[in-house]
Amino acid sequence: MSRPCWKSRQTATDAQVNLGTGKQSGPPLAAAVLSAAGLLLLAGLAAAQGWRNLALQPCPFDYSAQTCASDVTPGFEFIPVDAGVLLTGERLDPDAVLHTFRVEVEIGIFGGPSVADALSTIEAVLGHPRGWTARGDLTFQHVSSAPPDLSILLASPETVDRLCAPLDTQGYLSCRNGPRVVLNVERWKAGVPHWDAGLEEYRAYLINHEVGHFLGFGHAFCAKAGASAPVMQQQSVALDGCLPNGWPFR
Ligand SMILES: [Zn+2]
Repeated sequence: MSRPCWKSRQTATDAQVNLGTGKQSGPPLAAAVLSAAGLLLLAGLAAAQGWRNLALQPCPFDYSAQTCASDVTPGFEFIPVDAGVLLTGERLDPDAVLHTFRVEVEIGIFGGPSVADALSTIEAVLGHPRGWTARGDLTFQHVSSAPPDLSILLASPETVDRLCAPLDTQGYLSCRNGPRVVLNVERWKAGVPHWDAGLEEYRAYLINHEVGHFLGFGHAFCAKAGASAPVMQQQSVALDGCLPNGWPFR
């Protein structure tokens, strides 16, 4: 496939992918800091709820000369498919951007999902009427025979830390690093202690949050106690008085 995909960059610069000025019509994010731990935190002007908090952030490096980086990750397995169904939410703009993706599961991780189960869950989330495809301006398609724009990996905590570096995932968190979303299988299996909205909603959060970074969104913050948390809030860390929410749209 000749269309470009996200460029692999394993440098510290990539951690700044969410920095910059919003170019969408939503409220701008006010400030950005890189924490000592290397995790990106964006202080946002929060609107009432959810996706309206978000501003699309430009990437700091040149995507015009992109290369497809994603050979299958060593030690991971996937389901071979030429091109899966288009995941479009409820409507599809004819000019929608297509992002191809592949799902890979680390071989031998204890208690993790099968590749088929992981793929099924991820496809359901990406094509959900409240997911990133809901506005109709982008769509996802599972591929594996061609290098995808995005690889979504389920991995052990140790492997997450290795693949997410220089981001510091502390054996606990997940990340988006270059063309990879790397999900911590322990969070996939058990969520986080302060999450009381069920594992299905948590997995939706896990997928939507990290795919949101791939789409260029930075972090958002709880606007007010009792409100639904924006999906780009670091809800695995804390809810800050907001209600758990796994979806970018209402
Ligand atoms: Zn994040």
